[in-house]
Amino acid sequence: MRQSKVIIFLGPPGAGKGTQAERLAAEQNLLKISTGDILRDHVSRQTELGQRVKPILDAGQLVPDEILIALIRDKLSTLERIRVIFDGFPRTRRQAEELDVLLEELGAKVDAVPTLEVPEEELIARIVERGKISGRSDDTEATARERQAVYRADTAPLIDYYSARSLVRRVDGVGSMDEVYGRILEAID
Ligand code: ADP
Repeated sequence: MRQSKVIIFLGPPGAGKGTQAERLAAEQNLLKISTGDILRDHVSRQTELGQRVKPILDAGQLVPDEILIALIRDKLSTLERIRVIFDGFPRTRRQAEELDVLLEELGAKVDAVPTLEVPEEELIARIVERGKISGRSDDTEATARERQAVYRADTAPLIDYYSARSLVRRVDGVGSMDEVYGRILEAID
């Protein structure tokens, strides 16, 4: 009966999670949930939440866990079937634990955690390059470096968290979009 599917794209800022997750979602009939996109949408609409989180995004810091957990709880509660790809969530141990609780309540569980690996200097270069067209106020070199540091400290430990359940699939994130996508498909097969 259960036909739920949950994939978590893990990896540092600039690794290409968003683009790859988008394609996988479209091809496998999954819903991509990008917390960065959700937060930026609040910022651009200048909602109360948007005004509160804008300085945090601009500094490359993490938005408080309670805010993210509430957003995800609301989002999941609207779904008829849990068939999702998370992009940019969870980013802390607490978020990961809360996600497990939420999924269990909904009769779902994490199925695979592809992790895109890209050397840090290439990540910084990609983000600075993207900043020329993205218009994202956090795509500057200084903020990109801060985001990498935050990733290493708070998010990279999630690799161990999911490795303990043999869910992690390491994927080389250097190469063309198609090459990397092919590796992801193989990895989550
Ligand atoms: P990137 O992966 O390139 O850093 P995202 O769009 O995933 O871009 O995230 C942009 C910013 O949004 C983060 O730097 C952070 O401030 C905030 N953010 C997004 N997701 C989370 C999360 N799960 N927990 C805390 N903050 C988040």
